[in-house]
Amino acid sequence: MGLYDLKNRTTKFGDKRSWIGQDKKKRSDTHKGDDYAATYGNDPVPAIQPGVVILNSYDPVFGHRVYVKRRDGLVVKYHMLNEPSPLKVGESVTPGQIIGRTGASAANASGNHVHVQTEKGAALLDPRPFILDYLAGNIPAAEIAVSFPSPAKTPTKPIEEDEDMKTLWLIQTPTNPVTGAKGPHWYLLNLSDYTYKWMQNDTQVNTFAALGVEKKTDQSPAIFAGFREVK
Ligand SMILES: [Zn+2]
Repeated sequence: MGLYDLKNRTTKFGDKRSWIGQDKKKRSDTHKGDDYAATYGNDPVPAIQPGVVILNSYDPVFGHRVYVKRRDGLVVKYHMLNEPSPLKVGESVTPGQIIGRTGASAANASGNHVHVQTEKGAALLDPRPFILDYLAGNIPAAEIAVSFPSPAKTPTKPIEEDEDMKTLWLIQTPTNPVTGAKGPHWYLLNLSDYTYKWMQNDTQVNTFAALGVEKKTDQSPAIFAGFREVK
């Protein structure tokens, strides 16, 4: 099954470890993340959270590594990749996107695995809950706009106005921009202040219900400007 199955976890967050260093001295530390071993060698390593690549480099201790930062500041570190990741710094990553492949690209590595570490500010966090969220498809709504679809490519429904006379657009995207799952997804965009809500379409009666609370997109208003002209 998948790389992040619990049966593949060889060392977990918080485990105490000790070993004999190359200088023959006994060393010990507390494991800062989770290790997931490859079942058959170089397994693909999916991103567990969305974000932007902030580092892609080699380190003698951590091996080939990629760091991805969420907009809320959470940083997911992937260590021990088998070779340099093709991802570029500044590139957006969606959950499930392949970061690289499992490896043992550092001196102390015991075997092919990926080391996943999660941090926010100075705090080290247990990565497992973030992995479980990924496996369950639970991505924080505030992070969704990382991959906010460009409406320029999406079909639209007619505009309506709510009781506050806000101009609302119901916009359809052909795939879920977060998971990449195929199938229509909808959001209601308020063109007066560029806030939006994800909507659920009840196809039986063709009504829409809001999913979660209103969010403000950080997309440039220029991206949406073309819609006004369509009206
Ligand atoms: Zn590790």
